[in-house]
Amino acid sequence: MPQDQQSLPGRLAAPSPGWTTRADVVIVGSGIAGLTAALRLREHVDKVLVVTKDVLAAGSTQWAQGGIAAALGDGDTPEEHELDTLVAGAGACDLDAVRILVNEGPEAVRELIALGTNFDHTADGELSLTREGGHHRDRIAHAGGDATGAEIQRALIAAVQAAPDIEVIQHALAVDLLLGEDASGTTGVAGLTLHVIGEGERDGVGAVVCRAVVLASGGFGQVFSQTTNPAVSTGDGMALALRAGASVRDLEFVQFHPTVMYLGPDSRGQQPLISEAVRGEGAFLVDDDGNRFMQGVHELADLAPRDVVAKAIMKRMLDTGRAHMWLDARHLGAEFWERRFPTILATARSHGVDPVVDLIPVAPACHYVSGGVRTDLDGRSDLPGLYASGEVACSGVHGANRLASNSLLDGLVFSRRIATVLPGELGEWREPSRDDRTPGLIAGGARKELQETMTSRAGVLRSATGLTAAADVLAGEAGQTATAVDQESWETSNLLTIATALTMTARLRQETRGSHWREDFAERDDDLYAGHFDVRMDDGRVTADFVPSPQTDPSVGPVAGVAAP
Ligand SMILES: Cc1cc2nc3c(=O)[nH]c(=O)nc-3n(C[C@H](O)[C@H](O)[C@H](O)COP(=O)(O)OP(=O)(O)OC[C@H]3O[C@@H](n4cnc5c(N)ncnc54)[C@H](O)[C@@H]3O)c2cc1C
Repeated sequence: MPQDQQSLPGRLAAPSPGWTTRADVVIVGSGIAGLTAALRLREHVDKVLVVTKDVLAAGSTQWAQGGIAAALGDGDTPEEHELDTLVAGAGACDLDAVRILVNEGPEAVRELIALGTNFDHTADGELSLTREGGHHRDRIAHAGGDATGAEIQRALIAAVQAAPDIEVIQHALAVDLLLGEDASGTTGVAGLTLHVIGEGERDGVGAVVCRAVVLASGGFGQVFSQTTNPAVSTGDGMALALRAGASVRDLEFVQFHPTVMYLGPDSRGQQPLISEAVRGEGAFLVDDDGNRFMQGVHELADLAPRDVVAKAIMKRMLDTGRAHMWLDARHLGAEFWERRFPTILATARSHGVDPVVDLIPVAPACHYVSGGVRTDLDGRSDLPGLYASGEVACSGVHGANRLASNSLLDGLVFSRRIATVLPGELGEWREPSRDDRTPGLIAGGARKELQETMTSRAGVLRSATGLTAAADVLAGEAGQTATAVDQESWETSNLLTIATALTMTARLRQETRGSHWREDFAERDDDLYAGHFDVRMDDGRVTADFVPSPQTDPSVGPVAGVAAP
């Protein structure tokens, strides 16, 4: 079911490269996915180059609070982790990908520990494991209480800095892929253009000629006006992959975290997250009258999967006309708060809320995208020479809704797999061919309206009316050409590309599934929508095609080899 929309930049307008360098493999991004790939690839590839838009630690990884999920506890099994993942994914997971995630996860986490990551331990010296929404077991390893991502990021950066054969360029924004043909006439990756805020030879726009690119550039939370994601999460990797002809899958499955601290009606950008682990330790949601409204909504009540909790909060907000609900964690006590959630405690207090004595105001905000660059089980995209891992990728492990703490694991496991296959697949160097894609650039000033439109029309609650209105606004923005060539315009062009594709697939998916909630199609429809929407782009024109897939939700139908809970 192809759908045409307005024309977007076929490539980003940028000055001609003023410098050139070469590397066998370029990794775009330095979160858990990028640095894991770099550390493993260096063992088998001569020259590995990591390029990253800001400083090494600027991505979502350092913000992760709750932890990383793996079947490491007594009595837990990968099969149980698989079942919880499939149920959360609402029939849109790829079963083989999930099996890889849960089976390779425990070893991958042990490797992180061996690398120097200091996870929390119990008094007996065992790994301390907690529970989050959608998990039926305690299987979330955490560090520094609620500073898991910061500790993982620290350990990975230390390891990369101790590996002199990995070259890193910070403040280096990947603009577009360069394409070329090999001897057989197959078009694939020949390199990328990079904008570096640096000094000396490598300053401004340059070209990196390479044999393969691993995209590890994270998600696109900044498409929405309130998000838990940092400023760098502007969907650059997905947008440049689309422009180069790769498929992007499942964009409509955007997870809105239910408990993001509400800072008032005018607050924009990155907002403080109150981790699900706080509910895992006993906190619960209440409305203005103190009613525990999650009871009776789901058997796991406050620990139901994220989409269930986010929808219940939104519904109660709409029913009561309030801008937020409340999280009650006062009974955890000061000592527990200080030991278990020191980061969240300090952040809440810095905003004038003391969780030890106050209710915390919370509302859903954009948190995670389950979709991304479509990959196979070894991280290969459908463009030769392009691989993707982590939040930028879609291998199918998350389906329509990511299970809590499965995303750090996703980047870890699939980057290891890329590093296993990629060295054997490194082909000849392709010479970058002439780029005939139509250059374009959207004015940075379009960003605010884009974000507000996406939040109000394509956010937690979606309908044909709202999505059509969003598409109209986005179409208008496609005509807002930038006068300045700068990072703001490149990022806004990427945000518009993603927002356009997301709105298109959200319109096409006329059902409610996982994190995609259509008010006008309230039921899940397995007859029509058991499968994926794959988006492609041809010189600025976006199309979406439906790809049916087998049912993978054990709660509604038979899944080969999966036992019922
Ligand atoms: C507040 C918060 C809490 C979370 N808590 C958890 C949790 O407890 N457990 C869990 O499993 N997940 C959690 N997540 C999700 C998880 O952190 C992310 O999905 C994961 O860290 C993504 O890792 P990544 O390596 O794919 O991308 P990131 O860590 O986001 O890294 C992306 C990298 O790409 C770089 N980049 C982006 N664009 C470009 C470009 N154009 N050129 C060059 N570089 C670029 C960025 O600067 C960055 O270095 C949380 C996320 C947030 C925001």
